[in-house]
Amino acid sequence: MKLSGIEVRVIEMPLVSPFRTSFGVATSREALVVRAVTDEAEGWGEGVAMRDPLYSSEYVEASVDMLTRFLIPALARVPDLDASKVAPALAKFKGHRMSKGAIELAILDAELRGKGVPLSRELGAVRSKVDCGVSVGIMDSIPELLDAVAGYLDEGYVRIKLKIEPGWDVEPVRAVRERFGDDVLLQVDANTAYHRGDAHLLARLDPFDLLLIEQPLDEEDLLGHAQLAKTVRTPICLDESVVSARAAADAIALGACSIVNIKPGRVGGYLEARRIHDVCVANDVPVWCGGMLETGIGRAANVALAALPGFTLPGDTSGSNRYYTRDITEPFVIEDGTLSVPTGPGIGVTPSPEALEEVTVRTEWITF
Ligand SMILES: [Mg+2]
Repeated sequence: MKLSGIEVRVIEMPLVSPFRTSFGVATSREALVVRAVTDEAEGWGEGVAMRDPLYSSEYVEASVDMLTRFLIPALARVPDLDASKVAPALAKFKGHRMSKGAIELAILDAELRGKGVPLSRELGAVRSKVDCGVSVGIMDSIPELLDAVAGYLDEGYVRIKLKIEPGWDVEPVRAVRERFGDDVLLQVDANTAYHRGDAHLLARLDPFDLLLIEQPLDEEDLLGHAQLAKTVRTPICLDESVVSARAAADAIALGACSIVNIKPGRVGGYLEARRIHDVCVANDVPVWCGGMLETGIGRAANVALAALPGFTLPGDTSGSNRYYTRDITEPFVIEDGTLSVPTGPGIGVTPSPEALEEVTVRTEWITF
């Protein structure tokens, strides 16, 4: 495959409602869309860095800089480029996994479209539909939260995840359990908002029979998570800490988690995400697919990944309308609590030029 150029586009998509987590409130999603133009096909990728470095150290403007100044020029020197050569060619650049994941997906999509192979088949998917959960942000009041959860359950979501932080944890969980019963699959995500000394606070969630507590402590605090896992009964799941297959293997060996949230955009791409899946399966650790408020591009690829055999828990693979009034691709629509895995070549969806133009802030084009 021969690359003729790569387009890097900064987009900004308004959210249907503000999304609050322990690290801040978002009213729109700034993101990157990468288009790889090759002699065989065009491929699409999405960068999941956010506008500010709050979820992780990466952010949109840094991602544009990394891609245009370092990553894309390095790929220009790779003979017979295909997706398997992207990560090795970029390994000398430290970190910046979100930027690497964006370009790898665009190359992988172009390669698979050229071959006529769906991403799901390439990754080893075993399902044609995936169960969908939804992530519910921190609200101003319990009644507001209960209304939001009721709406999502009515839409058919099969699992509810509540974002929590100190001061918004036991009460919202109790309220959701009291109103909707013990049968609702329920879990919480702290996005690193607690400290080692908060074990007694987190243990107060134990009576509510949660599926898991996601990333309660700092992303670098594996030992803290291992200690916490011994004092709370609710299973610990890691998200931010799991940046690679090696990090997953280390966390499991240390007893820092018994469940892993895999986010391809955060770990350097779908090929590393599959390796994390394989490590977890080999260790009998269930995985599920997280979300980074992706557009249809990343959502399509996430749904393909979530169809692999080790994804035994519902993911944050929500419908497009959870976040956006209008997606840039054909929208993903929940049916009976599931999303269908795209069947077309590559990621199986293509952005509408007009919808993409409407949300584009700026575009960089690098010719090979
Ligand atoms: Mg999370």
